[in-house]
Amino acid sequence: METNTLAQWQDRLQAELSALREAMAQRSAGTDVVELDQSSMGRVSRMDAMQQQAMAQATLQRLRTRQRKLEAALNRVAAGSYGLCCQCGETIEADRLQADAAAVFCPECAESAAEHGKS
Ligand SMILES: [Zn+2]
Repeated sequence: METNTLAQWQDRLQAELSALREAMAQRSAGTDVVELDQSSMGRVSRMDAMQQQAMAQATLQRLRTRQRKLEAALNRVAAGSYGLCCQCGETIEADRLQADAAAVFCPECAESAAEHGKS
C-alpha cells in the first residue's frame, strides 16, 4: 500500500479511536454511578435502572471490542501489514476498508472465520 494512502487510513483509524475513547469516557462516567437506592425508588424503577445499566455495559463492551480492533489495525499500519488479510495475506479491497477501516480479513476469509464462529 502506498505511503500516502496508508497515512490516510492511519488518520481515519486514529480519528475513530479518539471518538471512541471519548464516547467510552462519557458512558463510563454515566454508568458507574447508577444507585439502586431502595428507599427512594420503587421496584419497577429499580428494575429499569438495572436494565439500563446492563444495556450501557453491553454498549461499553462493544465499544471496547471496537477499540481493540482499531488498536490492532494501527499496529498493522506500524508493522506495514495494514490492508492485507491476516489469514491469506491478500490485499483487502479499498471498498471493504471504507466500510470498516479496521477490517482484518478479506471477504473470503471473513466468511470462513464467521462460519467457525470467530469473526
Ligand atoms: Zn484472506
